[in-house]
Amino acid sequence: MDYLSAAAPIARLIEEMHKLPGIGPKTAQRLAYHLIRTSKEEALALSDAIAKVKETVVFCAQCQNITDVDPCALCTDDTRDRTKLCVVEQPLDILALERAHAYKGHYQVLHGAISPMNGIGPGDLKLQQLVDRLAKGDFKEVILATNPNLEGEATASYVHRQIKPLGLRVTRIARGLPSGADLEYADEVTLSRALEGRLEMS
Ligand SMILES: [Zn+2]
Repeated sequence: MDYLSAAAPIARLIEEMHKLPGIGPKTAQRLAYHLIRTSKEEALALSDAIAKVKETVVFCAQCQNITDVDPCALCTDDTRDRTKLCVVEQPLDILALERAHAYKGHYQVLHGAISPMNGIGPGDLKLQQLVDRLAKGDFKEVILATNPNLEGEATASYVHRQIKPLGLRVTRIARGLPSGADLEYADEVTLSRALEGRLEMS
């Protein structure tokens, strides 16, 4: 095997690593060389975990949360309030809100936030699923719990405009959260306060 044909698989691995969020070219190289040095078992355990996730994890057809059963456990939980729908950017935000034990309604995941700088527009979010669900369900209040940063605020305003014609109560989580912070990193007390202090969107 010549040098170039041996290097091609490494280059490919680095390229794949570089596609992951938050992984720059340097880190991608470091991770790739780590995997080359590590035992075959360990490296294959990683690729197996990735394959398993892609085989078994799906989006819940109702809330778009990640799940291995569709509809997910949250959507089929009869003890939850079917009149409230909390809209979040990412599945991890649901985990944060559930940890805070401050909310017992249903959820809807947008899978992103509007960010013109990163080329993410409304069409890249799962917005139609939200509108469809609201049109069908018995929801009375929609809580917009997108992150308290530029993208999150832009997304909340956009979603508000889209669902306004439905005539539901639309609220936005309070600014108790440090501005610019992500929901998923907020502590439980702060999250509970942000939910309790939510304000009607005009
Ligand atoms: Zn669900």
